[in-house]
Amino acid sequence: MPAGPPDFRLGNVLATSFTGTLSERHGDPVERIPTPQRLVDWLVVNGLAVDSCTTAQLELARELRESIHAAATAAAIHDPLPASAVRVINDRSMAGRAAAILTPEGSRRWRLGSASCVEDALGVIAADAISIIAGERDGKLALCASPTCRAAFFDTSQSRTRKWCDMNTCGNRQKKARFNANQRKNKR
Ligand SMILES: [Zn+2]
Repeated sequence: MPAGPPDFRLGNVLATSFTGTLSERHGDPVERIPTPQRLVDWLVVNGLAVDSCTTAQLELARELRESIHAAATAAAIHDPLPASAVRVINDRSMAGRAAAILTPEGSRRWRLGSASCVEDALGVIAADAISIIAGERDGKLALCASPTCRAAFFDTSQSRTRKWCDMNTCGNRQKKARFNANQRKNKR
């Protein structure tokens, strides 16, 4: 039986979409890549198609994810970057052998060293994290206003005043909570 569509939040920034595969970090955390196959699914929908993944590679991926989360959170609140997180991000970036390919239509694709090389895909994600943490891209790192989330996200809005990592999840939930609180108040 074919699996249903993966329940992934797709953002405009690869690195913070990746850290979003563990959501509700300050509430009841939801692990969206619990198995190697789920990581394969996530990589495929994010333009980094690999055809297999081992448990060890999944562990590397999760270590990178938590390191990006730690470094991006520190950057968002202007704290010093944790040295161990920086080391992991750099190791993954250096171990990747992906090449940027320009398509005839003028868009960018990633060509991985081989389809079994999760390390190449992780290298692309690590390099993406470096570019946003280093402030090279147009946008600002911020933390989600939801107290159960606090995810680091990359705000590319013109005013740089985005409050939630994702409008459809955290943003919506906050709006509903406020609406319900108002309803209760009005009934009194
Ligand atoms: Zn959030």
